[in-house]
Amino acid sequence: MNNLGCIFLENGINFDLDKVTDCCILHNDGRGLPILIENYNGEPIDWNNLFDKKAKRVEAQKEKTIYDCEGCYHLGEYSFTGERKISEFHFSQCRICNAKCVYCSQYNHSYKLNYNPYPIIKDLIEKGYYKAGGEATLQGGEPTVMPNFDELVQLFLENGTSVRVHTSGIRYSDKVNDALKQKKGTVVISLDSGCSNTYNRIKRVDRFEEVVENIKKYSASDVDNVIIKYIIVPGYNDNIDEIDKFFKLMNKLNVKNLALDMEIQYAMKYNYKDVSEHIFMLIDYFYYTAKQLNLNVITYSFLSYLLKNRTTPKKETFGNKFLYKFYVNSKKDKSKEIKYNH
Ligand code: SF4
Ligand code: SF4
Repeated sequence: MNNLGCIFLENGINFDLDKVTDCCILHNDGRGLPILIENYNGEPIDWNNLFDKKAKRVEAQKEKTIYDCEGCYHLGEYSFTGERKISEFHFSQCRICNAKCVYCSQYNHSYKLNYNPYPIIKDLIEKGYYKAGGEATLQGGEPTVMPNFDELVQLFLENGTSVRVHTSGIRYSDKVNDALKQKKGTVVISLDSGCSNTYNRIKRVDRFEEVVENIKKYSASDVDNVIIKYIIVPGYNDNIDEIDKFFKLMNKLNVKNLALDMEIQYAMKYNYKDVSEHIFMLIDYFYYTAKQLNLNVITYSFLSYLLKNRTTPKKETFGNKFLYKFYVNSKKDKSKEIKYNH
């Protein structure tokens, strides 16, 4: 018998580009995303059939961890209940976006308009397979521009599910703001910069001021659940000056929660542990500065993995900032650059 499991296997659903899966997690050399429906494009779902598949998978998991879940960081001691309901939702099917990030090679800026999951969720609720109390994560692409986004958020709020929105922050949503006011929402905005020049180079749209305004509006509703992200993008924002500008702005906006991440294509190219040493020093500097300013940094699993594979020691030489900056620059390995596909 196996006592490992995770909530998504029994109570999760993820709507992806062309399939429906239990979760949206890709891990451990391409495992994850256990498939429920292949070649999916928004058709009505036979819920009974879907829950039969989930139940079968849960039974297999109780015997031995299934292939898709082997090594997943979400696995833990878990007691399955046998309940045929969905409480955890992920929406990853949207490929339209209002930014053009240099590092977004995954979708090649195709801005594909995918299916609309709103009627599917309504159907799930009407047929009694919905369980309140969980979380719906909307990501993309840019979820706020997908059809029925606001209606979908409203539907979840009315039915007792919290929402987590990963957004560029370019489009302000009243419904997301309602979720924040009700303490039923989390907003994650990837700003990646502290000034419009760098923002424009990375995001390749001239919308920095609007995003800043939207951060202000969301923070005014619930600052505890607004998270601003800084993805280190080599060649664009991998320097102390930009990080300083970012912190200055965060202080001005009274933001409390930050998230730090590393651009994944770069990390993968250098096999996670061989990234230029100055990247790790910037990571050290980011954590150090956040601590000085009493700001919380959320570390996503990808960055944790990168830090776990680090081969250089952590640097704590922040006494003389001028020297530290010089030192970081000197460790920059110019041969380790990356050309992003535009
Ligand atoms: S263990 Fe990981 S891969 Fe498996 S369902 Fe849970 S989150 Fe997905
Ligand atoms: S916000 Fe996300 S989906 Fe949009 S261009 Fe940037 S990386 Fe791509």
